[in-house]
Amino acid sequence: MSTIAPPWIENQSILTPTSGYLAAGFTHTINAYQGCAFAGALCGTFCYAQHNHWITRGRDWGLYGAKRNARTAYRRDHDRIKRPARGEPRPLKIYMSSATDPYLPQEARLGLTRSILEEMIERPPDALVIQTHHARIERDADLIADLSTKTLVWASITIETDHDRLPGFPPHACSPTDRLEALARLRRRGIPTQAAVSPLLPLADTQDFARRLDSACDRVILDHYLIGDGSPGGARTRRTTLAARLIDAGFERWTSLDTLWETREILTKLLGENRVLVGREGFCSLSPTRIE
Ligand code: SF4
Repeated sequence: MSTIAPPWIENQSILTPTSGYLAAGFTHTINAYQGCAFAGALCGTFCYAQHNHWITRGRDWGLYGAKRNARTAYRRDHDRIKRPARGEPRPLKIYMSSATDPYLPQEARLGLTRSILEEMIERPPDALVIQTHHARIERDADLIADLSTKTLVWASITIETDHDRLPGFPPHACSPTDRLEALARLRRRGIPTQAAVSPLLPLADTQDFARRLDSACDRVILDHYLIGDGSPGGARTRRTTLAARLIDAGFERWTSLDTLWETREILTKLLGENRVLVGREGFCSLSPTRIE
């Protein structure tokens, strides 16, 4: 996992109109970094963003840059959409982030995500999903809690397995245990929390995982690379080493959609239907379903 400071990128605009997978729920994505420092971690083996040639431009997947003027770019984009000189304000529903992680190691020093959240307190979008693989999101719990009183916010942490070290794979950027505990603490602060079990990877104990999710989050989004990587039948992911690694490590049944539906059944029995959503429909659902 890279901790090296990336080069600065100057950007006039930081909100990107959505297309494809996220367009059913979100109007824009926001990425404060270009590329991702978690490329060498476990999630880098299945990362869907690495297939975006507009970002990689033929380079190996990794962190390429940081957007220096992220906060002012957000302010400018927000005002163009919500405070136009002519015409009506337009919807602004943001997914942060689609092609990087908002809580990279570099964020601890650069604070780009934090600066955007600070600006959002002044200029809230209509909805915001903050999606990360790292417990570092807790640093911004104060801002996220404040923002959740002004607009619809979901704090979403990917927890794709309960194995803190999954045999046959590189280490996680942040252990599932640490991510679950961070999610639970965010929830206790009154922030709507979501666990993205995406893509579903091998579980050591599905019943126990369901119990841990039940106490850590308001809802779960369950997904599998065969239906969730934005290509028919998981064609993009099939070009990566993910399936071969799973099979080599003795986890072949987790390469089947049958296992996804079995997992959904177990989670649904404990959490209830309305707290377990699946695939694109789940990711794009912005309904407030906080469980008190
Ligand atoms: S954190 Fe997200 S964008 Fe970064 S490598 Fe992992 S899956 Fe890809």
